[in-house]
Amino acid sequence: MIGAIYRGPMKISVENVEIPSIQEGELLLRVKAVGVCPTDVKVYRRGSSSVQAPRILGHEVVGEVAESRTPSVSVGERVNVAADSPCLECSNCRRGLENICTSMQSLGVNIDGGYAQFMRVPREFVDKGLVLPLPDGVSWESGALVEPVAVSLHALSLGRPRERDLTVVIGDGPNALIHTQLLKNIFHVRRVIVVGLMEHRLKQASILGADETLKVQDLGKEIGKLKEEGIDLLDLTIANEPSVREAMDLLTAGTKLVIFGGSQTDLPLRIDTNSVHYKQLTITGSTGTTVDEYRKAHQLVVAGQINLDKIISHTFSLYEIRKALEFTESQQGLKSVVIP
Ligand SMILES: [Zn+2]
Ligand SMILES: [Zn+2]
Repeated sequence: MIGAIYRGPMKISVENVEIPSIQEGELLLRVKAVGVCPTDVKVYRRGSSSVQAPRILGHEVVGEVAESRTPSVSVGERVNVAADSPCLECSNCRRGLENICTSMQSLGVNIDGGYAQFMRVPREFVDKGLVLPLPDGVSWESGALVEPVAVSLHALSLGRPRERDLTVVIGDGPNALIHTQLLKNIFHVRRVIVVGLMEHRLKQASILGADETLKVQDLGKEIGKLKEEGIDLLDLTIANEPSVREAMDLLTAGTKLVIFGGSQTDLPLRIDTNSVHYKQLTITGSTGTTVDEYRKAHQLVVAGQINLDKIISHTFSLYEIRKALEFTESQQGLKSVVIP
């Protein structure tokens, strides 16, 4: 089969490799679509201590079952496979933090992912119900995006959005547009403002339900008004120096700040204890998702409650993997999907 093999930072090559063999309880998937995630770009660019090369990256995966060694899934079924399988036994898992499992099995990290024509699905994914059916009505491309919806759902749930809330989403990438839709369609938040850099992305944010969009350079003029109204939830989908500064400027009484986006290097949060105390601020990070939230996200995607077609802007073949990663990095389109 053809697979894109990651061999270290800036090294990824499309090679002819053996089709993986499967054991009792496992599945072999004919990969149909893989979402290109900024995490893949990060690993490709700078490497990652958790990803040992050689490795096939890609964790937003859908496909057709080509071989099954479990009675629970049949050959020919269309399925989505969750990105991560938590052990459910470590102390984090037992504390309800299965998204931060210390023995997580993750596609594209410690097991081969989807940037290939075929992918082995380990038994624990099957046994834990992390292989989810995809009805015919859901396109392969949309079906591949259950994971970004699931991690978004996890982040927003931590911010406990209420219907009366004013929410400010900082960032205009694909995840920000998923957040916008979850806030409007699922949490029914009163007002969502998306702050971003790119005209075409902000336009899409409006189409997908944002009540207002703001170019970053215009934020300064609006800060006074926004703070007077009071920001309930501040959703930082991208963490870089300017966006963190903007977030700090926007904190008002009772703001819940959710840091969803990871940053390239550690950035200090300049905030004093008394302002956390007297403004009653809440600051939380968010990473990954739980098994329940993954299933909920799958239901939302299947029910068409999140418009993913409008978020997917480009598709690439497996041979164009570098182009796909570099395109995602350039922020030109919105979400890219690789079709092996
Ligand atoms: Zn992802
Ligand atoms: Zn665990």
